[in-house]
Amino acid sequence: MQAKLKIAIQKSGRLSEKSLALLQECGISFNLGSNTLRTESHNFPLELLLLRDDDIPAYVSDGVADIGILGENVVLEKGYPLEIVEKLGFGKCRLSLAVPRATHYQGLSDFAGKRIATSYPKILGTYLRVAGVEAEIHVISGSVEIAPSIGLAEGICDIVSSGSTLLSNGLKEVEEVLTSEAVLVAKPHLEGEKRDIFDKLLFRLRAVRRSQHNKYILLNAPQDKLDQIIAILPGLKSPTVLPLAEEGWVSVHSVIHEDDFWEKIDALQQAGAEGILVVPIEKMLI
Ligand code: ATP
Ligand code: ZN
Repeated sequence: MQAKLKIAIQKSGRLSEKSLALLQECGISFNLGSNTLRTESHNFPLELLLLRDDDIPAYVSDGVADIGILGENVVLEKGYPLEIVEKLGFGKCRLSLAVPRATHYQGLSDFAGKRIATSYPKILGTYLRVAGVEAEIHVISGSVEIAPSIGLAEGICDIVSSGSTLLSNGLKEVEEVLTSEAVLVAKPHLEGEKRDIFDKLLFRLRAVRRSQHNKYILLNAPQDKLDQIIAILPGLKSPTVLPLAEEGWVSVHSVIHEDDFWEKIDALQQAGAEGILVVPIEKMLI
């Protein structure tokens, strides 16, 4: 019987849907009922374990699962020796310090001797130690943002994505402690058949991620502007250039990265490109 790689993902929460969708985009399907905790893919040697995100580091570290998908914030807080193999681009948030809106905040040293409520004592403890600030850390597991209003603490350290929860609790963000996103973690030193399956999964996953960052671009260019346009569009190797039926014009195809997408489009238009089409790439295998 062929070995199976075991992956742990969050059962229900902010990362669940996107973790499953990512596996799906890698061509790996599962039959999932509403109460499934464990299932196998029928088209890839992968077994899925659905867990609370807080339990994933221990399960992967103990070898109950081989790999997992969870927030980097949880990986760092739990502190198990896991390898962060890949950032996955979703579940983005930050861990921040916040204080009541009326507080006249001047800097991190304002927290000296104060009480800070958090579910992230380890990350916060390290952060304060490095900054040389001595504060009292109060560990609470949920609803951290009400701590100042009930007199439990002068400040909090919690996950923020839009900031609306802070706002509705009369708090303001004053320091960013950590930025986080979903990551793929693995038990260090996976070997043998499991390593092979993992490499195969990673190959697919990177192809999907790369395609999410890049777009395919097609445009028409006057022949005499071609050099200038190609200089803007390096592409993977070099762009594809095809003659158009109209004399003196060519069609140029290439791949551009989302980071400098609009700058490139502006530069291309200024250089004389016309009929620019940009299409999504489904998979990018390099
Ligand atoms: P579980 O029941 O699995 O323990 P949870 O309530 O601890 O779930 P979620 O709220 O679903 O966890 O968040 C999971 C992860 O999503 C967080 O650890 C964090 O990495 C990420 N995340 C992104 N945005 C936010 C946000 N606004 N609040 C909390 N977590 C966020
Ligand atoms: Zn959790």
